[in-house]
Amino acid sequence: MYDPKSGKAEDFINHEEILATLDYAAQNKHNAALIDEILSKARRRKGLNHRDAAVLLDCDIPEKNTEIFSLAEQIKNDFYGNRIVLFAPLYLSNYCVNGCVYCPYHAKNKHIARKKMTQEEIAREVIALQDMGHKRLAIEAGEDPVNNPIEYILESIKTIYGIKHKNGAIRRVNVNIAATTVENYRKLHEAGIGTYILFQETYNKENYENLHPTGPKHNYAYHTEAMDRAMQGGIDDVGLGVLYGLSTYRYEFAGLLMHAEHLEAVFGVGPHTISVPRICPADDIDPKAFSNAINDDIFAKLVACIRIAVPYTGMIVSTRESQKSRERVLHLGISQISGGSRTSVGGYAEPELPEENSAQFDISDTRSLDEVVRWLMQLGYTPSFCTACYREGRTGDRFMALCKNMQIHNCCLPNALMTLQEYLEDYASEETKKVGAALIAKEVGQIPNEKVRRICKEHLELIKNNQRDFRF
Ligand code: SF4
Ligand code: SF4
Repeated sequence: MYDPKSGKAEDFINHEEILATLDYAAQNKHNAALIDEILSKARRRKGLNHRDAAVLLDCDIPEKNTEIFSLAEQIKNDFYGNRIVLFAPLYLSNYCVNGCVYCPYHAKNKHIARKKMTQEEIAREVIALQDMGHKRLAIEAGEDPVNNPIEYILESIKTIYGIKHKNGAIRRVNVNIAATTVENYRKLHEAGIGTYILFQETYNKENYENLHPTGPKHNYAYHTEAMDRAMQGGIDDVGLGVLYGLSTYRYEFAGLLMHAEHLEAVFGVGPHTISVPRICPADDIDPKAFSNAINDDIFAKLVACIRIAVPYTGMIVSTRESQKSRERVLHLGISQISGGSRTSVGGYAEPELPEENSAQFDISDTRSLDEVVRWLMQLGYTPSFCTACYREGRTGDRFMALCKNMQIHNCCLPNALMTLQEYLEDYASEETKKVGAALIAKEVGQIPNEKVRRICKEHLELIKNNQRDFRF
């Protein structure tokens, strides 16, 4: 039985409810009156439930689709302005005991190099990342109780937070590791992690079990209920995502929103972020083998409909996507992107030799962080290295309250400008510095609160005089 308040995966991601939702959406995709009603609900900026959102996703009336895209853009602007937060993934180890058929790290793949970084190697990577200008990382590791136990992850987090190189610092470590116990989530919380990210991969249980034939990840319920355990362990920022291409995108979309509704119903706070990865080429993986792979048009529609359905949830797109495809979806709702990424273990300090081959996927956007920062600014976005909320204790419902009151503008914009100023001072090329200085001069005037604007201007001057780490 469908029950968003239940702690059981099969109740809150209920297969029959998803099928009924897809049926409802298919029956109403030309229903202009209903679509208008849903759009006016969405204009109240409080989000939509999975049934209403599924109708918008299916809608095939061209003028209504134009309205859907323009509403997504307005919502993105209202909540996130023109800011895009930057981060980088850091792969600690690619040892993995699971058999995920879409990932080159699967246990049976014998032709990739297996690597696990020592703490010294991690320190070198972090210095390389700091020298690029990164302040926010997402650490990644395969599931392997012998090679990558929780103690290894905790020690690595400590190492990362401990490195202070020149003016650099990693101020927020998000963690993307396998589903684990409440006790281990508590340890991660105590280690000061930012968001705990775990992709569901697919919400379709039957497909899930076929795609994860071996290893602990085969257990659908344990994986699907992981965010509940994370929240019970004290982590209140969790990041969801599916790997589009594994099951039909309509099914995944409904499941994803039901998962968000479940977290809101049980814990009073929905997901902090939603990522939108698509299956992409990698060693031993051919996307053509996945018949549910989605094209760029559907990808853009998905981003727009997620933006409308969960306005307070950040949305992440990685370097799996090309510059062109990122450019297409940024304005529809993306709030965070990775830049200058390496998906190999130890790839920042020393780029891999071709024969080493330890990457999780092929990167489509291979530009440096400096190029990505400049590109964003030239498109009219404000790149941000802000980590303030987490460091001010504004997580979970405290973050959401700020967001829902729209007070976020008096924090995000000045924080974006101050962290961008730091980046320009410490890491940017001359060309990027020029573009950045003009952008900051223009954007600082947009800060709504006069007092915040004045303080921000003072801090920008102090940053030019080598002071660091101001935040609202
Ligand atoms: S997706 Fe994760 S769990 Fe699966 S094989 Fe890759 S690293 Fe291992
Ligand atoms: S102020 Fe908070 S919500 Fe805004 S960019 Fe910084 S960390 Fe994110």
